[in-house]
Amino acid sequence: MIAIHKDRCPQNHRCPLVSRCPADAISQSGFGLPVIAQERCLQCGLCVDICPTGAVAKTIQ
Ligand code: SF4
Repeated sequence: MIAIHKDRCPQNHRCPLVSRCPADAISQSGFGLPVIAQERCLQCGLCVDICPTGAVAKTIQ
């Protein structure tokens, strides 16, 4: 499972991951905390690699 940690995300910008996710699994309302639709996520890890603040991580599930 991929998780976005709210304490690491400044929530003050348009998340660059939204347009990069190959599965269109990441959404964001305004500059709020991005949300990952787990049912769409491919677990590819791209967002983990490119998040500029390191706020995205794979979790053990
Ligand atoms: S792991 Fe891949 S498919 Fe899943 S949310 Fe991140 S970029 Fe999208």
